[in-house]
Amino acid sequence: MSLSGSQPWLTVTSPWDGRVLGTVAVTAPSELDEIVNRARQAQRRWQQVPLATRSRIFRRFADLVLNKCDHILDTIQTESGKSRLSAFEEVMDTARGLRVFANLAPKTLGSSRYPGVIPVLTKAVVHHQPVGVVGIITPWNYPFTLPATDAAAALLAGNAVILKPDSQSPLSAQLLAELFTEAGLPDGLFTVAAGRGAVLGPPLVDKVDFVMFTGSTATGRRLATACAQRLIGFSAELGGKNPVLILPDANLEAAAIGTARSAFANTGQLCVSMERAYVHTDIYDDFVPRLVAATRGLRVGVGHDWNIDVGSLISAAQLETVSHHVEDALAKGATALTGAKPRPDIGPFCYEPTILTGVEESMTVCAEETFGPVLSIYRVDSVAEAIAAANDSRYGLNASIWSQRQGWAVAKQLHTGTVNINDGYAPSFGSHHTPMGGMGESGIGRRHGAAGLLKYTEAQTVAHQRLLPIAPPPGVSNEAFARAMTVGIRVLNKLVR
Ligand code: NAP
Repeated sequence: MSLSGSQPWLTVTSPWDGRVLGTVAVTAPSELDEIVNRARQAQRRWQQVPLATRSRIFRRFADLVLNKCDHILDTIQTESGKSRLSAFEEVMDTARGLRVFANLAPKTLGSSRYPGVIPVLTKAVVHHQPVGVVGIITPWNYPFTLPATDAAAALLAGNAVILKPDSQSPLSAQLLAELFTEAGLPDGLFTVAAGRGAVLGPPLVDKVDFVMFTGSTATGRRLATACAQRLIGFSAELGGKNPVLILPDANLEAAAIGTARSAFANTGQLCVSMERAYVHTDIYDDFVPRLVAATRGLRVGVGHDWNIDVGSLISAAQLETVSHHVEDALAKGATALTGAKPRPDIGPFCYEPTILTGVEESMTVCAEETFGPVLSIYRVDSVAEAIAAANDSRYGLNASIWSQRQGWAVAKQLHTGTVNINDGYAPSFGSHHTPMGGMGESGIGRRHGAAGLLKYTEAQTVAHQRLLPIAPPPGVSNEAFARAMTVGIRVLNKLVR
């Protein structure tokens, strides 16, 4: 569980003020062989550990996370720049998610018996064998909960994990490793390999047995290709351009507050946050001023104060992307109803929550993910038009619908992996029993729930044939065997489902 590495060092600075927070030893690609070998040895012992014992460790970890909440919040906040409430989302997600996974694991991952080909004579059992060593690559925007929940699922399934965290946020990963140790995870099962993705990523993918990636679609595609070459499993949670639909029967005040929250939480650097709002024409003129008021009421700031709603962006590069998307839109004729300006007086990478109207296809912000506090609003004439516009994207991660009566019917027509009715993202993301992930270019595979555990395993079917083989017995001709089997299959098809 060590933070493996040697010279040189990554220097981690705070987005709030550039202060140096610490240094982390970089793992050299040449060290990966030894790290993976150590992980393999630990994994062989770990897969023999009963599921109930594995689960106990992660229940303990979930309690630890709640007990050490303030320390975790401080670490996440100072290295990512986010508000305390956004950091708290990570604590909630980890503490609840791990508890759910630990409870699900024994039943989901335990062996199960199924009907065999010939009732009574054939016994068929499915085991879920761990894949071995899982490489997990994570981004900076949720630097604690994404590695924690993905690693826990892989570990519960009997694997060892090598985590490559984003080079801007290795301190949260380091803290995670310490907490896993404190919870009782045996040594060698969880290793943090810090360093640049372009350098460490390819050799890591070359050595592990499965890759779980969270990050941009461009990097995900590159990694998917590398995994395909090796024929190893790959799962990815990628970008999004998430739509929110405000329908005529929505509670407009709740919709305005909820839309502002779900567009600007985590300063918009959230894969499931809203970037496109489709507002029905019947309520457009009533809704938009409410949304503007809710957005203007958000407090932008840096520091540990719980009253800050919108924290800093992570970096100069992220500020540059956000500024570029907004300036490009304004230069091509869009209008800003709020924000549209950086706030260096608050923090070097702070940017005001921005609402744009008049956005058109020629503008970068229209279809490209901004991954910042920018929401474009579009007027639509019907629910059908809202659905068509929401689906008109190469992405398909998350969607939000504000409606008193039409939510369930509309949700089925949306091409996204998750849909939230009368909220933005937290209800689906936080429902850890259910699968979470993206359609289209937003990802492949699912995290959370049974699907999120089983993907780290290989299904193995063991069938035991008793008394008679499935072949003509001695003295029975092939034709007689075929006739008898035909009768037998007819009976089976009627009686056994
Ligand atoms: P990114 O550039 O793809 O980086 C993500 C991770 O991949 C980092 O650890 C990075 O390492 C590493 N990486 C970069 N190039 C690599 C390579 N060639 N091989 C292996 N690893 C490599 O993503 P980002 O732009 O920083 O993160 C934001 C994106 O993540 C957004 O698009 C967002 O939507 C997406 N995201 C999705 C979800 C989800 O659940 N769907 C959740 C969070 C974020 P470095 O340290 O070198 O950068």
